[in-house]
Amino acid sequence: MSDDTIFHKIINREIPADIVYESDSVIAFKDIAPMAPVHVLFVPKKSIATLNDAKAEDAALLGELMLAAVEYARREGMADNGYRVVMNCNADGGQTVYQLHLHLLGGTRLAGFGA
Ligand code: C5P
Repeated sequence: MSDDTIFHKIINREIPADIVYESDSVIAFKDIAPMAPVHVLFVPKKSIATLNDAKAEDAALLGELMLAAVEYARREGMADNGYRVVMNCNADGGQTVYQLHLHLLGGTRLAGFGA
């Protein structure tokens, strides 16, 4: 099962993280290996291993992840210049932690995708 990832340990305060936001259903913390000046991960507390595992009943939770990221981007003053949100799914998508999470990246002009 997917309820014992490193992110669950962060949710349960078993390992430290730089937590920047928390609600009943979502936690957000700074990525330990940032790929941009601002790099925050938004993670549902409910165990959902990958985007493939999200169900119709999780629609509001996925929306909450997005809106929490937007709110954080606003607070960091990134809304006007822009930012990127990314969700990696499974091996080809580059997922390494199998608890669904949204990356918020910003604070600089990000390189485009592709070649
Ligand atoms: O999308 P992906 O699964 O590759 O992202 C996992 C992210 O979790 C990585 O960016 C990694 O740096 C981050 N991470 C973290 N704190 C940990 C372990 C991993 O921020 N303790």
